[in-house]
Amino acid sequence: MSTDTAPAKQEFRNYETGALVAAVREHYRKMRSRQTYDYVQRMKAKYLTFDRPMHLWDAMVELNKLVDVSDPDMDLPNVQHLLQSAEAMREQGCPDWMQLVGLIHDLGKVMYLWGSDEDGTSEAEQWGLVGDVFVVGAALPDTCVYPEFNALNPDMSDPRYNTELGVYEPGCGLDNLHLAWGHDEYLYQVLRHHQPNRIPEAGMVMIRYHSFYPWHNEGSYSQFLCEKDAQYMEWVKEFNRYDLYTKSTKIYDLDEMKGYYMPIVEKYLGSGVIGF
Ligand code: FE
Ligand code: FE
Repeated sequence: MSTDTAPAKQEFRNYETGALVAAVREHYRKMRSRQTYDYVQRMKAKYLTFDRPMHLWDAMVELNKLVDVSDPDMDLPNVQHLLQSAEAMREQGCPDWMQLVGLIHDLGKVMYLWGSDEDGTSEAEQWGLVGDVFVVGAALPDTCVYPEFNALNPDMSDPRYNTELGVYEPGCGLDNLHLAWGHDEYLYQVLRHHQPNRIPEAGMVMIRYHSFYPWHNEGSYSQFLCEKDAQYMEWVKEFNRYDLYTKSTKIYDLDEMKGYYMPIVEKYLGSGVIGF
């Protein structure tokens, strides 16, 4: 689907109205009150083990069973959003590696298969899996969606974490921050540990930061940015056009798409069996 046939921009990410809004709001209340600095360190230690080999296409099939509760625009299985993003990139002539990134950018959500309600990484409790992320270990900006929930975060009454810099150095760069735990960082780390990985740096950055809306959409966190983060911003903004405005009601058949995408998977990721 080309951008000129897409619905107007303001029809997306509308958090004020619509049938899904109560569930989305509740998701963000939990996410903001439970994603602390300590929680993120625990989740990294727990989930970044890379010892669950699964073929990328099997992971896609598993995402066909998951609906993202944080997304006010989507009540389709998540894999449809992946196919829509990739197909829009293909139609617009984006390079094959970017089509691959479109196809897999949300694949970290397969964490729900071995996740738990307690961690917010299950189908029922998704507050550690999906949603716009923010920096943990520093003051929450009021550019976060539903900023009224910021005060519920226990770190915001902890003097180690509730200042503009928190635990970080000025200009330390995005790569040195800890973001709220979820599917972006999970897939980034999984792919970083995968051999071979020939996805260009731009693609890896798109995967890692696509949910970091307070930064790429709102311009917050300038106190932490370093020189190369300006390039990161360009990459993520380019990606975001397809992540957001391709959301549509068009349904693709996963099996039918396999013939086109599997050779690209193999070109950049070898056999496609990934250690999650
Ligand atoms: Fe995502
Ligand atoms: Fe997405």
